Formats: sequence, structure tokens, C-alpha cells
Amino acid sequence: MSANRFFVSESGFEGDLVRLSAEQAHQVCHVLRLKAGDEIVVLDGAGGEFDVTLTTADKREAVGRIVARRQATGEPTVRITLFQGLLAREKFEWVLQKGTEVGVSRFVPIQTERTLLRARQIDPKKLDRWQRIVTEAAEQSHRGRVPQIEPAITFAQALSRVGEFDRALIAATSGQARTLTEALAPSGGTVASVAILIGPEGGFSDAETAQACESGGIPVSLGPRILRTETAAIVAPALVLHVLGQMPS
Ligand code: SAH
Repeated sequence: MSANRFFVSESGFEGDLVRLSAEQAHQVCHVLRLKAGDEIVVLDGAGGEFDVTLTTADKREAVGRIVARRQATGEPTVRITLFQGLLAREKFEWVLQKGTEVGVSRFVPIQTERTLLRARQIDPKKLDRWQRIVTEAAEQSHRGRVPQIEPAITFAQALSRVGEFDRALIAATSGQARTLTEALAPSGGTVASVAILIGPEGGFSDAETAQACESGGIPVSLGPRILRTETAAIVAPALVLHVLGQMPS
């Protein structure tokens, strides 16, 4: 069985020693029942990965010594930002978890013409819970960084950020959508950052798709079958990473 993995913030590192948070100490001691001498893997959230031998593991603290260090192998080198039409809570949490496993680096909920929820209906207290979901998914899936979750913005605000990315793809079910292979072709310049816009249950309006294209977005197809929004939110990043060689088959 592979070792348990924990993200630790910078303040937890002191020379060769790593101190886990109180919550992680509880997990180590009571849930996983690890003891001094057992091995864990610690991630610094900046791409570093460390083999650590626990020196103390009790209900108050868990501390270990770094015995090896390397670059985290599971972190994609292409950064994907998923602009996702606002979803009901359970579906959004599912997208956060699965999207993290697949390799999304940043999640930004967007309010569009057809979203059923409004941005202000999102309870800010949910952010803690969401942060925990992506952290656990990142640990489980061997990511080297915890994805960011940004506050919800409008579709227009999302379009104003299109220029920050090497490619901005709007997943569109109508019109002259291109294939992902065409949209990501190296002839258009290197691709290190990709924005993906996924519409809500009712899709994007034609006007929204047109505005995205005027702003420099590329309309892309995910194939001939219409996927539910939460399915498209996982399939699109997986295909982008596949086309860019980050998820080889
Ligand atoms: N009735 C809507 C369905 C929307 S599906 C429509 O026909 O537009 C929700 C979102 O998932 C879409 O806005 C799009 O972003 C994405 N999506 C689903 N299936 C897709 C496909 N085959 N190609 C491109 N995008 C797709």
C-alpha cells in the first residue's frame, strides 16, 4: 500500500522536521493509527514531495523527519482553469473532487444567462468545505499542488480574463466548434495554461458563445453526444490533458 499523503503549509517545515496540523495529527493517530517509525509522504503545495518518517505521533502532535525529497510526479505541467456555470451544491462538489483528480488547477464558478443559481446565493461559509474537498482529492490523487477555488464571477468578467491564458476554450454544442486537437495545435504557440468554459444545465446562449469568440475564445466540441454539464466539466479537462500529452494512453 502506498504511504498516506498530507499537504503541509510552509510554517510546518523546520529544517529536516515537518509538523502536521492538529487535524492531521488526529487523522494520523486516531484514524490511520500510525506510530513513530511509520512512513508518510508530505507535500509542500509548491510541487515538492517528501518521504517522512514519523518521530512523534500522538493525539496532540504529529512530527516527522524528511528522509527523501523530489518533485511531485502527479502534478500536470499544464495549468487548467475551469470556468464552470454555477451548479447546485452536490454537483459542484462532485466537479471539485473529480476535476482535482483529473488535473484541474483552478475552479471559477460563473454566472451565465441560463444559470439557475445566482452568484450571491453561494454561502461563503462553503469555501472551507470546498477547500477540504480539493485538498483531500489532491492528496488522494497524488497531485503536487492543491487547486485554487475562486469566488463566483459573471460570464462577462470571465471573458475579460481570456487574455491571461495560452488558450481559452468554450465548450459549445452548436455552431462551428473545432476539435480539441485543432484548438490546441502547437502551431498556435506553446500551451502551458488553458481556460475551459463549461455552460450550465441549459448551455450557453448563442450570444454568449459569440461574445466568447470575439474575446479570443475558441469554440470546441467534446464530441457528438451532449454531456450533462458536470460530465463535460470532467471530460473536457481530461481530453485537454490527453491532447497535450499529460494524460497519455
Ligand atoms: N441543452 C444544452 C445542453 C448543455 S450541456 C445545449 O444543447 O447547449 C451543458 C454544457 O456542457 C454546455 O454548455 C457545454 O459547455 C458542455 N457540453 C456538453 N456536451 C458537449 C459537447 N458534446 N460538446 C461541447 N460542449 C459540450
